[in-house]
Amino acid sequence: MNWTTRQSAFITLLAMLFGLGMIFILAYQVNSSYQVEIQRTRLEAAHQSSTIASQISSSLREIDIILKDLSDKISPDDLSNTEKSSARNQELQNILLDKLLQIHQADNIMLVSSNSNISHRALDTPGSGQLINNDYFQLVRNNRYQEKVYARLSNRSENTGIIVARRVESLMADFSGLIVASVTRNYLDNLLSNQNIGKHASIHLIDQNKGVLAKYPSHASAPIFDDFVIQNLMNGKESSALISHTEPTQSISSYHPIKDTPFIVVVNVSSEDYLLPWHKNTLYYLFGGGILLIMALLMCYFFWRSHRLTQNLHKKEKYLNASEARFRQMIETSPVAIVLARMPDYFITYINHQAAELFDQTQAGALSQRAFELYKSKLTFMEQVQRIQQGDAQHNIEVLLQRKDGQPFWGNLSMSVHETNQSTTIMIGISDITSKKQLEADLQHRATIDSLSGLFNRAYFTERANHEIARAKRNQQPLIVIMLDIDHFKKINDNWGHDTGDIAIQSLAGLCQSTLRDIDIIGRIGGEEFAILLPETDLEKGFPVAERLRQRIEAQRILLTDKQTLQFTASLGLTILEEDDQKIDRILKRADQALYQAKHDGRNQTVIFNKQ
Ligand code: GH3
Ligand code: MG
Ligand code: MG
Repeated sequence: MNWTTRQSAFITLLAMLFGLGMIFILAYQVNSSYQVEIQRTRLEAAHQSSTIASQISSSLREIDIILKDLSDKISPDDLSNTEKSSARNQELQNILLDKLLQIHQADNIMLVSSNSNISHRALDTPGSGQLINNDYFQLVRNNRYQEKVYARLSNRSENTGIIVARRVESLMADFSGLIVASVTRNYLDNLLSNQNIGKHASIHLIDQNKGVLAKYPSHASAPIFDDFVIQNLMNGKESSALISHTEPTQSISSYHPIKDTPFIVVVNVSSEDYLLPWHKNTLYYLFGGGILLIMALLMCYFFWRSHRLTQNLHKKEKYLNASEARFRQMIETSPVAIVLARMPDYFITYINHQAAELFDQTQAGALSQRAFELYKSKLTFMEQVQRIQQGDAQHNIEVLLQRKDGQPFWGNLSMSVHETNQSTTIMIGISDITSKKQLEADLQHRATIDSLSGLFNRAYFTERANHEIARAKRNQQPLIVIMLDIDHFKKINDNWGHDTGDIAIQSLAGLCQSTLRDIDIIGRIGGEEFAILLPETDLEKGFPVAERLRQRIEAQRILLTDKQTLQFTASLGLTILEEDDQKIDRILKRADQALYQAKHDGRNQTVIFNKQ
C-alpha cells in the first residue's frame, strides 16, 4: 500500500500516542497492583492476628472454666492449709492433678494463699516461688471485682508463659487467695507455629510492657513495637491496629489484643514476602513497557525521519519547480518551435508559442493532440521514434508536417528522448523550411523547365530520356523518339513578329501535352524544335501518335486579332530504339535525319527513319 507522507506521519503519530498510552496504562497498573498488594497484606495480617488472638483467648477461657470448676471443689481455707500430711491436702493434690490432666494447655495448677505463698501444686516441679509480680498480686488482692487474672509468668526468666488465675474469696467475701494455672511458652510457641506465614514474617505474643511471651519463628527478631498503639489497645481506645514500618526493612504489623488480658498478638509481614508477586509482575510490566517505549521511540525516529524526508522532498520539489519554470521560460522564448510529448501514448505535454503558431493552433488546444498528428504521415513519426530508441540521432531531418487544417508544410526537425524516473518524454524541435523548399523547387523548376513552353529543357529532356532508354533496355521494351520542327517558322516571325512566334511555340507545347500521355517525355530542344519520347511504344503504335499530333497542329487556328488567325504546320522525324543505342544523342540524330527527310519531302509530314 502506498501512503502519502501526510498519512504516514499521522499513523506514526497515532502509533506513538498508542505506545505512550500503553506505557501510561502499565504505570497505572503497576501502581494500582502495588496498592492492591498492600491492601491485601494489611487485610491478611489483620485477619491472622485476630484469628490467633481469638485462638489464645478461647484457650485461656477453657483454662478459666476448669479453674472455676476447681474453685467450687475447694474451700477458701484449703488455700492456706500447708500441712502436707493432712488427708485433705492429699485429696486436694489429687483434685489438682485430675484437673491438670483436663487442661493440656497448662503445665501446672497451683493454689496460692492470700499472702502469695503457693500452698498446693498439682505437680511438684522445681522453679516454684513467686508466680506473679508482687505489685500485681497486691492489685488483685485489693480489687474485689477482679475475678479472673491473666498475667505473665514472672518466675521463669528465660522460659516465660502465662498464668491464668481465679480469685478465691471466703464466705465473708474476703480475699482468700488464687487458683493458678501456668501456661508454658512451649504451648504458646506451638500454637503460633501452626500459623501459615511468609518466609520473612513473624508472630509475637507480647504483654503491655512489650515483653515477649512467645514468638514464631523461634529465630525471629522482634519488630519495634509501637508504645502508643499498645497504650491505645490496652485502654480499649482501639480494638486493633495496623502499622507500616519502613525501618529496618519495609513491613506491616497488625496488633490485636487478646480479650480481657494484657496480651497482644503482633503479626509482622515483611515486604520481601508480600511484594514478591508484585515485584515479579512489575518486572513483566517493565519488560512490556520497555518494549513499548522502544517501539514508541522507534516510531518517533521514523516519524522524524519521514518528516525530514518530506522536508527534503519539498525543497527538491521547489528547486525542480524553479528549474522547470526556467526551462519552460527558456523554450517559450526560444526561436525554435518545440513540442514535448510523453511516452508511450505520445500525447503532447507541452508546446511552445512558436510551435503553436507554426501548426496554426492554440497552446492549450494542442495538449489534447498526439505528436504524430503534427506529421503528414504517422508512419514517418513512428519510424523516427523507433530510430531514437535504437540510439540513432535524429537531427535536421526534413519532414512533411501538417497544420491543424491538414495543410502540409516542410519542417526541419530534430527529435530526442529524455528519460526521468517517472516518465519518458520526446522532445521535438522544428523550424519551418517552407520558403527554403519553395526556393529549391523554383531552382529545380528553372533548371529543368523551359520557361517559354513549360516543357522540359534540352538538358533535362536528355537526362530523363537517357533514364527511360536504360529502363527500356533493361525491360526489353520498345520506345519511340520523335523530332518535331515548325515549318517556315522564320516566316511567322517575319510576318507576325517575334511575340507571335513565341505564341506559336507555346500553343504547340500545349498541343503536345494534351495529345500525348503523362508518361511521355516532351522537351524543347531548340528554337522551334521539340523532342518527344514515347516509352513502351513500338512503331506500330508510335507512328499514328505522331501523325495524330501533326494533324492536330495543322488543324489548329490561333486567334491573333478579331479577323486574323495563325496557322502553321510541322514536320516530324521518327525513329525506334535500336539495340546499339545507349544514349539519346544517337537516337536524336536518327530522328533528326528523318525530320530532314520530311522537310525535304515537302514538310507537314511524318517520316520514319530508314537506314538506307
Ligand atoms: P524550315 O521549314 O526549313 O524549318 O524553315 P524555318 O523557317 O523554320 O527555318 P529554321 O527552322 O532554320 O528557322 C528557325 C528560326 O526560328 C530562326 C529564328 O529566328 C526563330 N527562332 C528561334 N528561336 C525562336 C524563339 O524563341 N522565338 C521566336 N519567335 N523565334 C525563334
Ligand atoms: Mg528549326
Ligand atoms: Mg523550322
